[in-house]
Amino acid sequence: MVRNTHRTQNLFSLQIEADMAPFEAGQYTSLGLDVDGQRVAQPYSILSAPGDHPLEFFFYTQPDGQLSARLSQLQTGDRVWVQRQAEGSFTLKQVPAGKSLWLLATGTGVAPFLSMLREGSLWQRFDHVGLVYAVRHWDDIAYSDLIDASREHYGERFSFVPFVSREKVEGCVHGHIPASISNGTLERVAGHTFSPERSQFMLCGNPGMVQDALAALEQRGFTRSSNGNSGHITLEAYW
Ligand SMILES: Cc1cc2nc3c(=O)[nH]c(=O)nc-3n(C[C@H](O)[C@H](O)[C@H](O)COP(=O)(O)OP(=O)(O)OC[C@H]3O[C@@H](n4cnc5c(N)ncnc54)[C@H](O)[C@@H]3O)c2cc1C
Repeated sequence: MVRNTHRTQNLFSLQIEADMAPFEAGQYTSLGLDVDGQRVAQPYSILSAPGDHPLEFFFYTQPDGQLSARLSQLQTGDRVWVQRQAEGSFTLKQVPAGKSLWLLATGTGVAPFLSMLREGSLWQRFDHVGLVYAVRHWDDIAYSDLIDASREHYGERFSFVPFVSREKVEGCVHGHIPASISNGTLERVAGHTFSPERSQFMLCGNPGMVQDALAALEQRGFTRSSNGNSGHITLEAYW
């Protein structure tokens, strides 16, 4: 392990030097530690771009969690098991063609989207990309340097819509993503209208947000893409 960056009381990032097989932005791998002689491992989305070193991951510390609380204590030089082969189909390859790509995340669910922004091929496929990032407190917004760089570089092609649920912050939507889809707040704030002909959505993170946002989008006539059916919604729930 190369570096442990503590961002808030319960959010941290690890940079890990490991020899992984090639992977695609949006995939995850398994990280593990040996605890009392037993391997404890969990899946984590890779936040770094394919080919970049060291690998980077972004974590929430589940205080009584088996693994994340231990990972949060790691220090430079400590060893972590990294599964060599990445897994998962939450990648741009699974997303049908469209004009506008909406990346909807809660908390650490932003990781696969940051890998995609770093990797950059989404800009060849879509005219516009919207990153919608929901957290409880403003301090929980991480990687704002990377988000700002996308804003500067892509201008009007990129929209960033932060949601903060537990405090009122100027420039942020106070509330939750699913309700903002149903009542039109998200489109109004982003300045873009969703349409089945143009819009594709990727949802990642808290399963409550993923399920409720899926239902809100289905109400609006969007359909889930699965097993080769090309719809509008691709999703990944973290628990
Ligand atoms: C495909 C996939 C990718 C994932 N990528 C990430 C990632 O990039 N970063 C990350 O922090 N976690 C990620 N997770 C969740 C991760 O695998 C673990 O579940 C998490 O670290 C908790 O493990 P634990 O052993 O510490 O706690 P456990 O004892 O297994 O506790 C699980 C409980 O922790 C809570 N929880 C789990 N994950 C989160 C989270 N991310 N944010 C808030 N609460 C959570 C839920 O209440 C869940 O019921 C991912 C899960 C999946 C399935």
